[in-house]
Amino acid sequence: MSATIEEKLFTIRYKVDHQSHLIIKDQDVCMKCTTKECTHFCPADVYAWEGNFTSVAFENCIECGTCRIGCPTYNIEWVYPKGGYGITYKFG
Ligand code: SF4
Ligand code: SF4
Repeated sequence: MSATIEEKLFTIRYKVDHQSHLIIKDQDVCMKCTTKECTHFCPADVYAWEGNFTSVAFENCIECGTCRIGCPTYNIEWVYPKGGYGITYKFG
């Protein structure tokens, strides 16, 4: 039986930095964004539309890199977390 996404996410360990490695470059661009694709493509539900800005729960990021190319206006600045922070996988 294959594991659900939620079950797989549960196998990841996080060491969270206090500073976000994910930056919305310009919230005005998000205001004009009609699709809000970041709220759909992120497997870890990092992005949420709060009515007038995009919030970023960077602590949950699994570093898949999708948001580097997924935002239609490339409005997300993406880097890996600083050394020593971020995720480690228990299996594989
Ligand atoms: S897809 Fe890009 S521009 Fe649109 S809300 Fe998300 S981060 Fe903002
Ligand atoms: S790198 Fe992947 S998991 Fe992290 S915020 Fe972007 S889409 Fe979500």
